[in-house]
Amino acid sequence: MEQMNELFYKDPYLREFDAEVISCTEGKKGFEVVLNDTAFYPEGGGQPADHGMLDEAVVSDVRKRDDVIIHYTDKPLTPGTRVHGVIDWERRFDHMQQHTGEHIMSGIIHRHYGYENVGFHLGADNILIDFDGPLTWEELMVLEEEANRAIWKNMPIQVTYPDDEELKHLEFRSKKELSGLVRIVEVPECDICACCGTHVSRTGEVGMIKCTALENRKGGVRITLLCGGRAYRDYCRQSEQNADISHLLAAKIYETADAVKALQKSDGEKSRQINTLTQRYLALKAEALPQGEYLVIDYAEDVRPVDLREYGNRLMEEGKAVVCAMYTNGSEENVYNYILLSQTVSLRDAGKVLNERLNGRGGGRPEMIQGTYRATREEIEAAFREVLVQGR
Ligand SMILES: [Zn+2]
Repeated sequence: MEQMNELFYKDPYLREFDAEVISCTEGKKGFEVVLNDTAFYPEGGGQPADHGMLDEAVVSDVRKRDDVIIHYTDKPLTPGTRVHGVIDWERRFDHMQQHTGEHIMSGIIHRHYGYENVGFHLGADNILIDFDGPLTWEELMVLEEEANRAIWKNMPIQVTYPDDEELKHLEFRSKKELSGLVRIVEVPECDICACCGTHVSRTGEVGMIKCTALENRKGGVRITLLCGGRAYRDYCRQSEQNADISHLLAAKIYETADAVKALQKSDGEKSRQINTLTQRYLALKAEALPQGEYLVIDYAEDVRPVDLREYGNRLMEEGKAVVCAMYTNGSEENVYNYILLSQTVSLRDAGKVLNERLNGRGGGRPEMIQGTYRATREEIEAAFREVLVQGR
């Protein structure tokens, strides 16, 4: 599991090192550099690769292939020379915090419920962990608090390499059957797990663990987790977001959800009032119209097209119109929503002519055409009167 030249195992806090270039070849992803020693962690065990520099060359990926660690760089390095390596420490320490937090959470869930971690993804934004049994949000919150208490105790994290005999008597979490030298990572009171990743040396360095989501999956659950700096940054964002909502709604910081509920309720009441008033307004308009007109042109401000349609249908049913041309104000100036209705006359041809004259869009069926016009009210009404005349 561990090679002699893997400096990240000897000291996971090593940020800079010197090494000799063994080989450098050009590949598809840039140059592939092999060193005699390296502190660059190669992608593995769910932990992403380190980034950093080798002299002037940028290291953008690190992989282990046939037990050889390959550094992918943007510039060639000369075999036989010595180079200075610098690890992108922000990135690595973040991975150490996330990875160790994952151990604490997985170990605690395993201890309480016996569930196995059956999937682990350390992404750029969060950690996803899949467990093979059900959990409620309330149960998860209890476990999350226990995980944070383990962090506050600032316990040392041990890495050991037990021999086969010791391994037989050791109970530890493991994703697969292991052979050879097994690296055991122990977080006291929380977890014993075989793992090849890099971890912080004391639980306190994890800083904080926060579960942000829980979803049911295939008889188990998927947990979204943030640790350390990620949890802190998330807290800052959420806090600012909630402070903004609190100001906007003039609500206390822990009462923003109640304030939104109240707003939704009043919004629903307003919608019902607007609907009632619109119906009454259109009914009054209809009452004021005489019987037996062929064409009724009508404009109604701030009325939804669906209400215009209902209004037109009412006029035709009451025998007040054969053809209705209704329109209302649209999303911007000189844009109007229109609807043309008739139960006896095909409006297909007239609809096309009106669209051409009024920069219109839309269509429909011979008995109902709707869409938008880009024109003035005068232009629209003049076009209606010319195009929608009886006998055409
Ligand atoms: Zn680990």
